[in-house]
Amino acid sequence: MKRKEDRNIEGRTLKPESLMMSYGYEAARSEGALKCPIFQTSTFVFQTAEEGKKFFEVAYGLRKQDPSEKLGLIYSRLNNPDLEILEDRLTLWDNAEACAVFESGMAAISTLLLEYASPGDLILHSEPLYGGTDHFLHHILPRFGIETAGFPADATEKDMRRVLEETGKADKLAMVFIETPSNPTNRLVDIEACAKIAKEHDTPLAVDNTFLGPLWQHPLALGADFVIYSATKFIGGHSDVIAGVCLGSKEGITRVKGLRTFLGTLAGPWTGWLLLRSLETLKLRMTCQMKNARFVADFLNDHPKVQKVYYLGMLEEGSHQRSVYKRQCESPGSMISFDVKGGEAEAFRFLNALQLFHLAVSLGGTESLAEHPGTMTHADVSPESQNRMGIGAGMLRLSIGVENPEDLVTDLKQALEKV
Ligand SMILES: *Cc1c(COP(=O)(O)O)cnc(C)c1O
Repeated sequence: MKRKEDRNIEGRTLKPESLMMSYGYEAARSEGALKCPIFQTSTFVFQTAEEGKKFFEVAYGLRKQDPSEKLGLIYSRLNNPDLEILEDRLTLWDNAEACAVFESGMAAISTLLLEYASPGDLILHSEPLYGGTDHFLHHILPRFGIETAGFPADATEKDMRRVLEETGKADKLAMVFIETPSNPTNRLVDIEACAKIAKEHDTPLAVDNTFLGPLWQHPLALGADFVIYSATKFIGGHSDVIAGVCLGSKEGITRVKGLRTFLGTLAGPWTGWLLLRSLETLKLRMTCQMKNARFVADFLNDHPKVQKVYYLGMLEEGSHQRSVYKRQCESPGSMISFDVKGGEAEAFRFLNALQLFHLAVSLGGTESLAEHPGTMTHADVSPESQNRMGIGAGMLRLSIGVENPEDLVTDLKQALEKV
């Protein structure tokens, strides 16, 4: 595009995938370089002392930023061109007003929660949650006098309300925090129901959209106030970078960035540059992964050694989960869990026999991964809670990559034969 903010040709608004190579970058400002350089610098030179003063007034909130004014470049804990361009591009997928990038998904989650919760407050959340989020909510926040209450991912609106009322602290609700689909059980949380409850209490709803976003689910359009990503997963997509993202309104993200400056959780320029590169192929990768996953799920579903497959493309027609899926998801994505017949021993035999799939945690990369949630990603969750959440000893979680789908199935088939 000729100008950095252009999104239209002949009245047509271009789709995000068309803008991932250019949006927010002006070549003329970087010696004509086609690609955005890495601005590997800790600090930025002010043209004049007056300019430096102006930038700091905005950065520290000493005066109101006028609507057209961008925060000037000051210091790379506050901002940096690679990160600002990345933030602009990330807003496009979710049609968000603003974006904040972080050094990790956990940095995004912890900074957002700490900005909105104060001692005496309550956080209402879905469960199960990503292990790090679960630990932060249940072991770190209580040290600051912040309480939590969880409801099962597939709870109805009525059940969510009951959990909230039973705390006796509904008037202290500071945030509703959900993760959907849930990990590793692939149960959907009803985003619109949560948005309704959050709105009634005048509190924000935050959705960890790592598993389906930014392509297949758009929580802001369903009434959420914040969307969170571990950019380590699909957005990074090559299992070589750790990063996080928070999207929302201009006002909300300004607050989040305020605390980010003082916690020091902004990502570095090299991370920003890697993610800019990854974004160019995001749709390509996620589409291929989604198609591969459908092929793999069909194979597993027919296999005699597989007890049950947890995959969003196989929700029972007519069920509440299926109706939530139709309302809020655009595709089943590429995460599959399944129960192998037997328990831990059988699951481990399967994992140890895999040849093309790598035995590793994490997800969303170009390579397919397999892991055992009960003893790996969710080892921190007590056996009783695992039971309640439906994480069995024979459960395995797969993240499907971009390999040839028949090669993937060949590997799964030979590994299941060893069980
Ligand atoms: C990985 C993950 C996180 C944490 O992200 P990091 O980048 O590892 O800090 C949070 N939520 C979900 C759903 C994840 O999968």
